[in-house]
Amino acid sequence: MNHPVPLTALGAEADEVWQDVAEPLKAAVSAASFIGGPIVERFEEEWARFCGVPHAVGVANGTDALCLTLRALGVGPGDEVLVPASTFVATAEAVVLAGASPRFVDVDPRTLLMTTGSILGSLSSRTRGVIAVHLYGQPCDMEELSRTVSQRGLFLVEDAAQAHGASWNGRPVGSFGDAGCFSFYPSKNLGAFGDGGAVVTRDASLARMVRSLGDHGRATGSHHNHVVIGTNSRLDCLQGLVLNAKLARLPAWIEARRQAAARYQEGLRGVPGVELLDEQPLAAHAYNLFVVRVADRERVRAELSSYGVATGVHYPRPCHKEVAFERFAREPLPEAEAAANEVLSLPLHPYISQAEVDRVVESLRSAVGEKVGAGVPVL
Ligand SMILES: *Cc1c(COP(=O)(O)O)cnc(C)c1O
Repeated sequence: MNHPVPLTALGAEADEVWQDVAEPLKAAVSAASFIGGPIVERFEEEWARFCGVPHAVGVANGTDALCLTLRALGVGPGDEVLVPASTFVATAEAVVLAGASPRFVDVDPRTLLMTTGSILGSLSSRTRGVIAVHLYGQPCDMEELSRTVSQRGLFLVEDAAQAHGASWNGRPVGSFGDAGCFSFYPSKNLGAFGDGGAVVTRDASLARMVRSLGDHGRATGSHHNHVVIGTNSRLDCLQGLVLNAKLARLPAWIEARRQAAARYQEGLRGVPGVELLDEQPLAAHAYNLFVVRVADRERVRAELSSYGVATGVHYPRPCHKEVAFERFAREPLPEAEAAANEVLSLPLHPYISQAEVDRVVESLRSAVGEKVGAGVPVL
């Protein structure tokens, strides 16, 4: 059998940046600079610049980025926040952690993204705002969503946890909403050596509030004045070093992801039994994940696995079908429910070779029924 094709290459990413991390880490540890400090501040500056906004605040993870943003926007009990049903649970979890209720909305079947059409029917007098999720790395139509949301006096938060480096009509994600929330979980496009997250915003007072909430409610510039009930959610120095080192490589890594995605599309377009998601013309997709839709997914996965091709499922159930969120499920959301049964994530990372992509394509074509038998190349 050919060598296995892994889903990700987190070890290779880590090895590439380790040379840039090791020495400064040693120095930072000797200087007892563990949490925050100049290294984290430098990353925050660079990350804000990358996102095209003046402020970035490092936090402990992407879930906190969302939750602290909602709290800083004044979201609390009695409020409703619209979230797409097709997302990682953290999007909705953050709403509940902030004391409010998520209201799940359906997604466009061609992109699996929230649209203006999908939110208009779900607004109520309790609606305070909307969290748009740039699922798999593809931005939502942010111009249209921003217009719709701001006309109604609601807030718009971007869950960009999967979309570092994506843009809509030339403008980076995270720069459209009241705030953009990022995760630096290791498998994201920009991943730390552990957990991490950030909130980016044009709004200086929102940035200050998020920083205060994530630092035990301290007043700006004061160690001993706690002015709100906060929590502990900060970025540490190791993660700051790793993120600085990876950020320097991020544009090249995203370009490699895009090239692999283009090759997948070439190889899979028109193959019966494999449905590609649409790429919107104004979207620059950052391809954290390359996702196709197939019927009979578990059988297809097993067959791919027998060829040494690893796959993932993001996600097997829409949020409103998870037990934890049952009480927030109000109505069927047919597109999100149908998609959850069919989505299949193929191997994608900055180091994937053309030969590996081709092997995945051939294996998938075989698995979906170009029934020529295992291991026989399909042309
Ligand atoms: C990863 C992710 C999060 C949460 O990030 P963590 O750092 O794991 O807390 C939130 N939303 C989406 C869409 C994600 O993919």
